Amino acid sequence: MRLDVVTIFPEYLEPLNVSLVGKARARGQLDVHVHDLRTWTHDRHHTVDDTPYGGGPGMVMKTEPWGEALDTVLADGYEAGHGRPALIVPTPSGRPFTQDLAVRLSEQPWLIFTPARYEGIDRRVVDEYATRMPVHEVSIGDYVLAGGEAAVLVVTEAVARLLPGVLGNAESHRDDSFAPAMAGLLEGPVYTKPPLWRGRDIPDVLLSGHHGKIARWRRDETLRRTTAHRPDLIERCAPDAFDKKDREM
Ligand code: SAM
Repeated sequence: MRLDVVTIFPEYLEPLNVSLVGKARARGQLDVHVHDLRTWTHDRHHTVDDTPYGGGPGMVMKTEPWGEALDTVLADGYEAGHGRPALIVPTPSGRPFTQDLAVRLSEQPWLIFTPARYEGIDRRVVDEYATRMPVHEVSIGDYVLAGGEAAVLVVTEAVARLLPGVLGNAESHRDDSFAPAMAGLLEGPVYTKPPLWRGRDIPDVLLSGHHGKIARWRRDETLRRTTAHRPDLIERCAPDAFDKKDREM
C-alpha cells in the first residue's frame, strides 16, 4: 500500500518510522511519502493560509498550494502504477473513523492524506478532487485538535495493522474490539503471568484448560464490558448476534 501525507509539519509524521508502521515500511509492505506543503508555495514567506471570506477569526488554507501538491503527488503515484487513490481528509466535521472504515481502507492500494491546520482547507480543494477519486472526510473523535497530523497517525496505524503480514499472528485482530467475529462488541479483560500479583489472582476458568468454558467466560465479559461502556454497540447488533446463553446474562 502507498501512503502520501501532505502537511506543513512533516516532522510531526516521524512516528511513522517506528513500531508496527515503521517495521511495515522497512519490510516494504507500506510505501510512505511525507511531503511539505510549503514546497508548493511561490512567495518569500511560503504562505499557505489567508483570511476567511465572510470574515471571522482564524485563517484558511489556500487552494493553490494544495492543488499543486495533490496534482504532483497524483502524477507521481500514477507513474509508479499505484492504482486508484482515495483521499483521506481529517476534519472534526467528518464521519467518525471506525474499525469498519479502517478495514475498507486497508483494502485500498493507495491513500492520500491532507491534514490541515488553522480553520481547515478552502472547501474547493475537496470538491475539486472529489470529482477524481473517492474522498473520505473523517473525524477521529468529538473534539478539536490543532491539526490533522495526529489523526493521520491514528488512521494509518489502524489501517496498517490490518494489512496482510503486518501483524506477526494474522489471527490476532480477529478477536479485537469491533471485529466482525466479535459482532462489533468490545473485548473483555486479558491476563498474563504471574498468576498472583499483589494479592490479585486471575479468574480460575482461564487456568481450567476447558476451551468451551473459556470461550463462554470471554463472551460474558464482552457483553458485560460493552453494556457498561458502549451500550450503543449492543443496540446496533442484529438480534441473531446473541445466543440463548447471551440472553441469560
Ligand atoms: N474549524 C474547524 C472545525 O471546527 O471544524 C477545526 C479546524 S482544526 C483547528 C484544524 C485541523 O485539525 C482540521 O482541519 C483537521 O485537519 C484537524 N482536526 C482537528 N480535529 C480533528 C478531529 N477530531 N478529527 C480529525 N481531524 C481533526
